[in-house]
Amino acid sequence: MSGASETSTRVCDHEGCPEAGKFRAPKSPDILDDYFWFCQTHVREYNLKWNFFDGTSEAELRAQQDSDKVWERPTQSFKKSAEERAWARLGVDDPHQVLGANATQNPGKGGGATRRLPPTERRAVDILEAKDNWSKPEIRKAYKALIKVLHPDMNGGDRSQEEQLAEVVWAWDQIKESRNFRDKT
Ligand SMILES: [Zn+2]
Repeated sequence: MSGASETSTRVCDHEGCPEAGKFRAPKSPDILDDYFWFCQTHVREYNLKWNFFDGTSEAELRAQQDSDKVWERPTQSFKKSAEERAWARLGVDDPHQVLGANATQNPGKGGGATRRLPPTERRAVDILEAKDNWSKPEIRKAYKALIKVLHPDMNGGDRSQEEQLAEVVWAWDQIKESRNFRDKT
């Protein structure tokens, strides 16, 4: 069951956007049967915003995901990225990641490698402009600083850096779940 297809002629619910509203998104976590309809750009923006600012902790999201799994998705892996989980909560299946962060990855800048990290974590460190001997709290600080610059809700509405924002979100997700970084400074 995918929420990502709709053939009607409705228009994107984002104010002033003339694109077709092909992607649905629940209006609130509590009202899952009442939807906004957005174009691809705006459903993605909405989803990311919800993920960051609804105050739902990662632990709560996981608990939610697990209970979903019991009923609907027994075969899904735990190893989903935050963005994938966010899409899943909106009922959007994105198996080819056309919407997700991985679709917008650029190769890492490389350089400065001082120890062996999996390529994904190496890239994540580059994206977050961190060093690979930093602790998670230190890298988290760098992540937060980047979010402030990149997120339209926090930078005065500039949406031009949405793709970089998605990369940064992806990157922190790699570090956060990694055992290659210390939990304490
Ligand atoms: Zn739109």
